[in-house]
Amino acid sequence: MKIAILGAGVSGLALARFLIDGGVGAHQLSIFEASSVAGGLCRSKTVQGFTYDVAGGHILYSKDAHALAWMREQAGGPAAFVEQPRNTRIRFEHRWVHYPFENGLGDLPPQANFDCLKGYVDAWHKRQVERSSAPKEFGAWVRWRFGDGIARHFMDPYNAKVWKRELDHLTSDWVAGRVPDAPVDDVLRASVGIRTEGYTHQSVFYYPRRGGFQAITDGLAGTLATRIRLNTPVAELVRGKNGWRVNAEDFDLVVSTLSLTDLPRVVKGMPEPVARAMRELEYNGLVCILLALRRPEHPELSWIYLPHAIQGPANRVTYMSNYAKELAPPEHASFSCEITVAGGASMPGAELERETIDGLVRAGLLRRDEVLFTDRSETRQAYVVFDHGYHARRKVAFDWLEEQDLIPLGRFGRFEYDNSDQCVIKARELAKALFPRIARG
Ligand SMILES: Cc1cc2nc3c(=O)[nH]c(=O)nc-3n(C[C@H](O)[C@H](O)[C@H](O)COP(=O)(O)OP(=O)(O)OC[C@H]3O[C@@H](n4cnc5c(N)ncnc54)[C@H](O)[C@@H]3O)c2cc1C
Repeated sequence: MKIAILGAGVSGLALARFLIDGGVGAHQLSIFEASSVAGGLCRSKTVQGFTYDVAGGHILYSKDAHALAWMREQAGGPAAFVEQPRNTRIRFEHRWVHYPFENGLGDLPPQANFDCLKGYVDAWHKRQVERSSAPKEFGAWVRWRFGDGIARHFMDPYNAKVWKRELDHLTSDWVAGRVPDAPVDDVLRASVGIRTEGYTHQSVFYYPRRGGFQAITDGLAGTLATRIRLNTPVAELVRGKNGWRVNAEDFDLVVSTLSLTDLPRVVKGMPEPVARAMRELEYNGLVCILLALRRPEHPELSWIYLPHAIQGPANRVTYMSNYAKELAPPEHASFSCEITVAGGASMPGAELERETIDGLVRAGLLRRDEVLFTDRSETRQAYVVFDHGYHARRKVAFDWLEEQDLIPLGRFGRFEYDNSDQCVIKARELAKALFPRIARG
């Protein structure tokens, strides 16, 4: 049986590895990759001795111990990684506020602390009295869950920066499990200055000592090198009698990690309602700006959130050189700044670097003369956007893919908010599901 995997990001690479480890012959597999390098969103870039992750600072952690160990193994095992405590903050005026925000109210100026506490307690009380269920609109959900104060001082401006949309354009269902849910007692404690932790599941993370996050996909790709066809974009997918033709070559089984929004362009004969549903799935892009700094060391932070417009266009800044000392030359440090771009909009021009630096200077995080140089990476699709049409469109897409036996995998292949560990877990599950079929031939 000939198997094609479309895309050599972590999902496609992990699937290939699991299939081969489960007994599938390597010669049966072909991995098509448009880019000259494998790794997709996990790629990193090194410029003049400064390394950063192209799709924003990546960290390795997982609730699945097997997946975590497996990923570390790909890049050379535990010794090839630095273990780091997660130390994140929100920049609020010139203060550091603990993350999650509701566990850091005591760090706020007194009036903001009061606004946020009052709003939180009012919202909590209203939920108890009315027994209301969570609103479906994200903006309304924020108020229902956190109250007016936290919405005004943090959630509204931060989410406006990330999503570049009216917040009620988004649904609230994606936040389940992602936005921390602090008990009211912890919020009261935090507000009067008793430290509470909240959100402990990523209290420690791992990062490759060398090469950036891409060291993980490099390790994986290294073992699959003969099976990966780099610089080979999938330009045409045609349904055959017993499988699919990929760029005019027949395969019995095809797994696609290409974005669902891009499939209508390559699949021949896709019904228009299906193509429309796929094309209309919403997403955001990302510009990641490296700031190479003349600075011997940073404060001990992992990354910070910048919720306010005055802090510039970046919503998150990673203290990149804190992840591993090899990421910057000696006596130097680096920031990696993330700026989202509404899906489909053109990428911002060079003014973005200036505005980002100006914002960080105003936020008290940077002196202009510390910046040695900047570098930028652009990612067309970085975030899945969960608007109100998401589930219906995705169902149309998935029903058709299933009917046509084109198997979707990966963050944009399935249009899911998955981190790399979840991509690996799903690849592992898919491999398991495919073994009997491959064995039957
Ligand atoms: C801002 C941001 C922060 C993140 N932070 C973390 C984090 O801290 N930790 C973590 O674990 N994960 C993180 N992630 C998620 C992680 O990057 C993704 O889950 C993962 O990289 C997705 O891998 P994938 O293989 O599914 O998709 P991709 O990486 O998108 O791979 C798809 C591949 O297909 C190729 N391709 C596309 N079109 C074609 C074509 N026509 N022909 C051939 N090839 C094609 C692409 O070049 C790419 O290599 C983050 C993501 C973002 C955007």
